[in-house]
Amino acid sequence: MQPPCPFCDIIAGKLPAGIVYRDEHCCAFLDINLVNPGHVLVVPIRHASGLADLDEPTGAHLFTIARRIAKAQRTRLPECRGVTLLLADGKAAGQEVFHVHLHVIPRRENDGVRFQRGTVHGTQAEQDKLTVIANMLTGCLSGDTRE
Ligand code: AMP
Ligand code: ZN
Repeated sequence: MQPPCPFCDIIAGKLPAGIVYRDEHCCAFLDINLVNPGHVLVVPIRHASGLADLDEPTGAHLFTIARRIAKAQRTRLPECRGVTLLLADGKAAGQEVFHVHLHVIPRRENDGVRFQRGTVHGTQAEQDKLTVIANMLTGCLSGDTRE
């Protein structure tokens, strides 16, 4: 049996939430611990823990809806000057709720929000190392997913 999931409960109407959009495949609601006012999470209706559990059309749909929400945030939120999209896939990436969700975070000028980033051993990678890693990934990325 599936463990309790707050986002499934929101979708089922068992938990209150500020729902901003819903269709057959996804639901978007306000994050309860907002980074900035109007911070939205876009989630698939059907429970999927991580990106690998999500079918590609639904994954693409989440992005389509996030793009629309970002446009609405820029138009309607007076202080919104930009938008950050963020998806933490897995514990190591900072995922805390294991129902896939795409954060759509409105950004204000100088709002102090930072995504801290380091480089391996604090140095820039050498080109031959980048080539090895690129080759490891490209092997599984063939084919146009829009077909
Ligand atoms: P993440 O670290 O990407 O897994 O983020 C999980 C997000 O879900 C956090 O920003 C939480 O504030 C948010 N969250 C958790 N429970 C709820 C809830 N019941 N309603 C709205 N947002 C929630
Ligand atoms: Zn769920």
